[in-house]
Amino acid sequence: NSFMELNLSRSLLRACETLGYKKPTLSRSCSYEFFCFRYLEFVLNDVAKMQAACIPLALTGRDLCASAITGSGKTAAFALPTLHRLLFRPKRVFATRVLILTPTRELAVQIHSMIQKLAQFTDIKCGLIVGGLSVREQEVVLRSMPDIVVATPGRMIDHLRNSMSVDLDDLAVLILDEADRLLQTGFATEIQELVRLCPKRRQTMLFSATMTEEVKELVKLSLNKPLRLSA
Ligand code: AMP
Repeated sequence: NSFMELNLSRSLLRACETLGYKKPTLSRSCSYEFFCFRYLEFVLNDVAKMQAACIPLALTGRDLCASAITGSGKTAAFALPTLHRLLFRPKRVFATRVLILTPTRELAVQIHSMIQKLAQFTDIKCGLIVGGLSVREQEVVLRSMPDIVVATPGRMIDHLRNSMSVDLDDLAVLILDEADRLLQTGFATEIQELVRLCPKRRQTMLFSATMTEEVKELVKLSLNKPLRLSA
């Protein structure tokens, strides 16, 4: 019922405390029995259980497919386990390890800012790649190999196609945020291209408010035997 019980690293627990997060979004002493059952699919009655359900599952390294809306605490739900796993990587790899794709500039800015707050007591670096900011400056950011890149698909694809600054070879985690809206940005083909460019051995987490046919296609393309969390 607390972040401590989720076995997150001290630096992340300290960040949660600083942000005033006392416990994962409403767990209602959420049954952790699912640990014992190891079942692949279970139903969330309430999106508010997001973090309590998502964090332990994401920490296992398995792929996740979750129905989740903004406001459910999903950013911390995917960011905390991802940061935790980065902190315990075997050796310090100087490469971009996590790519978070989100449909709008505003969402990207929010996620980037949240990750910076959660990672404030660590040495993890997060870069922001969105339209409206200078392409040159973003190339510098990408070349510095931030551990995490938060991007909108259009600008990320621009960099992939037109510059040598993107290197996804060491990517360990891909997060597709608001997948239904991502596919409505007019970059559906490019998103598929991006997924194909990522290393096969990786963890992928996909979040979507609705599970449209297009999202299901993206799930098939990007996820490997995912655990499903549905509201
Ligand atoms: P999100 O759904 O990720 O956009 O988060 C919605 C809001 O909930 C944000 O303002 C977060 O800072 C806040 N929040 C996320 N997790 C927690 C938590 N465990 N306790 C309190 N507030 C939280």
